[in-house]
Amino acid sequence: MPIHQNTDHQIYYRDVVFYRQVLIAVALCGVTVAMPFAAWHFIWGNSMITYLLLPVIALQIVSLVLLIRHGFNQWIALFLASVQMGVTVIINIQMGVLGSYWVIASAVANYYIVSRNRALAINVIACIAVLPLAFESSDIMVRFAMANAMINVFLYAYARQLETKNRELEELLTKDPLTRAGNRTALENALIRVKNQHLRHNTPVTVLMLDLDHFKKINDTEGHTAGDKVLKRLADLLRARLRATDSLFRYGGEEFVIIADNTTLDQAAYLAEDIRRRVEKANELTVSIGLAELQAGESTEAVVARADQALYKAKQMGRNWVCFDPV
Ligand code: GH3
Ligand code: MG
Ligand code: MG
Repeated sequence: MPIHQNTDHQIYYRDVVFYRQVLIAVALCGVTVAMPFAAWHFIWGNSMITYLLLPVIALQIVSLVLLIRHGFNQWIALFLASVQMGVTVIINIQMGVLGSYWVIASAVANYYIVSRNRALAINVIACIAVLPLAFESSDIMVRFAMANAMINVFLYAYARQLETKNRELEELLTKDPLTRAGNRTALENALIRVKNQHLRHNTPVTVLMLDLDHFKKINDTEGHTAGDKVLKRLADLLRARLRATDSLFRYGGEEFVIIADNTTLDQAAYLAEDIRRRVEKANELTVSIGLAELQAGESTEAVVARADQALYKAKQMGRNWVCFDPV
């Protein structure tokens, strides 16, 4: 269920906030339960358990601080889920069937703390660990194993369904349905992302703004449906040419924006010229393109506005041109 960075899953802002809160609660519970437990064992002479627990408590406190200061982190999540399950497994082994309630509760919680595959792996390992050690009769073992299996099957399927739905929702919120290019919301998010990267690593970023020439004529002579098909074909042509680090957005009507990440103005001019030529060759239409490279201290709105000015210049020069804004 949690949506992690560095995986295929998308990051949803509200989910990251939610999972940060869940993890803080788990770390806090861990610390507040483990500390008196460690002290109790120290007083009653079983200091071995205390020494085993102390590093865990220390790591839980570190996790807590990191979560509060830096937010969600998948490795902290994995650590907390493993520790929580480890402790409940020990309780189960010590208390027998009464302790098994905690293993079941932890198994459910794991689907909130880590990704579904990790939750399943941790829960299967825990089940294998407690089965031969915690129960006296095979009757109880079978019931415990069945209950555990049921919980995992339902939660795993549910988590997968939720991921699919979230992905669909993300598509609806960020994609233009006609061309499948990113919409304005996606463009704004992408601009913020590349600008932050530019600030941190000083990577060059160039914005390209494209506009079909005399597109109105297509609509007027061939109809709106034909116009729509042209827009789709253009988006396909652009996607086929772009690299993985370039992203395509529909800015409005027949205007598109490409963010060329890690690309200088010169390199982007080469890309733009290639696009211009390909469009010209592919159909009777042509395209005008304006470029601008993000400058130090420049806002995202400003660089888009400069690309737009360059596009205006390309139109004034008679269309089917690539122009750049030299700052
Ligand atoms: P220029 O070379 O100056 O860009 O001329 P143009 O005709 O392309 O420019 P203009 O901005 O005047 O016209 C854009 C047209 O794009 C107007 C509108 O009918 C059409 N358009 C906008 N969105 C869509 C759409 O989703 N589908 C279709 N078929 N047409 C659209
Ligand atoms: Mg146009
Ligand atoms: Mg236009």
